[in-house]
Amino acid sequence: MAHYNYDFDLQPEKAIPYANGGCLSGFIIIPLTVIMVSAVLFYALSHVTFVSSATSLDTGIGGTPTDFVSPYDDYTITQGLHGYSYGHMAVDINAGDGAEIFSPIYGEVTGLYIDEIGNTVLEIENPAYKVTLMHGIYTVSLGDSIQLGQIVGSESNQGNTYDMAGRSCRGRDCGYHTHLNVFDKRLGTNVNPLDLLPE
Ligand SMILES: [Zn+2]
Repeated sequence: MAHYNYDFDLQPEKAIPYANGGCLSGFIIIPLTVIMVSAVLFYALSHVTFVSSATSLDTGIGGTPTDFVSPYDDYTITQGLHGYSYGHMAVDINAGDGAEIFSPIYGEVTGLYIDEIGNTVLEIENPAYKVTLMHGIYTVSLGDSIQLGQIVGSESNQGNTYDMAGRSCRGRDCGYHTHLNVFDKRLGTNVNPLDLLPE
């Protein structure tokens, strides 16, 4: 949701300098009309974009937006809920170096980047959830439509990972896992991934 609102939020900032210029030069009605028409157009364009995106996601292959599958065939939980300072309520799960990672939801790749501390980050979202996966080697592209359970990459230790003794695994052969965070758009908050992961 925030992704789609972002462009729309920028529009009033463009309009304000124009409005001030119009008032100072004595022409009020024409600038106001331009602003009003622009606002309607911007709203209409934003609205149409949002509705068409949501509609395509609602009919996505692989089930309903709340369907959730495990990112791994088999895994162990290596860390319970954490990441609050990062804005997360995530868990760490491990299936081994190079294990295939499956998309827990169907949706669209809306984020694919390396964050400021070197973590590889993959974000997939649909109308219900925004799922964030970290530390893997991801093989999908920004904007890709992803099916439920589709392979999106393989497990790695990219970025900020540690061994069992708490030592950094940067450049070392350890710390392989997936950091999994789930944001529920309907609640507007992160939810416990362990409540969604199949037993
Ligand atoms: Zn983590």
